[in-house]
Amino acid sequence: MFNKKEYNKQYYQDNKEKQKGYSKQYRMDNKKKVNEYHKQYYQDNKENKKEYQEDNKEKKLDRSLQSRYGITLEERDRMILEQDNKCTRCHLPFEGIGTEKYAPVVDHDHSYPKGDPNSVRAILHNYCNLKVGTHNDSIEELKLSIDYLKKTSKLALTND
Ligand SMILES: [Zn+2]
Repeated sequence: MFNKKEYNKQYYQDNKEKQKGYSKQYRMDNKKKVNEYHKQYYQDNKENKKEYQEDNKEKKLDRSLQSRYGITLEERDRMILEQDNKCTRCHLPFEGIGTEKYAPVVDHDHSYPKGDPNSVRAILHNYCNLKVGTHNDSIEELKLSIDYLKKTSKLALTND
């Protein structure tokens, strides 16, 4: 005999399981979609962020070069090309960026006012720029050091 009550109960039971299955499937699909979306978003954002940061770094460097030496980043890069990518002091190639030892830096004469492009002498290695700077751009000062080293170095004496 057909029992409506039993049938409804069964229908409800079956449906409940089905519903559960649906939502579980839905949640799983959705989770996958959401994860993929997040992954893609992160990836896109990472690229954009990197590009943005690179762009920002260049802009910052350009502004800094203009305010300190009165030259643009483009002009500095042109100088590096004209120097055949080599340091004018030691004639070895440039390597690295920023504060790295052999990265290119603008060497300038401190007696000029800040931002005067005439103050720019050449592009040197960071290292070489420091060496030139230790004698305050003074050939006389440098001569004193050379004379001192000549007098005190045994190797220099035998070679002289
Ligand atoms: Zn050098």
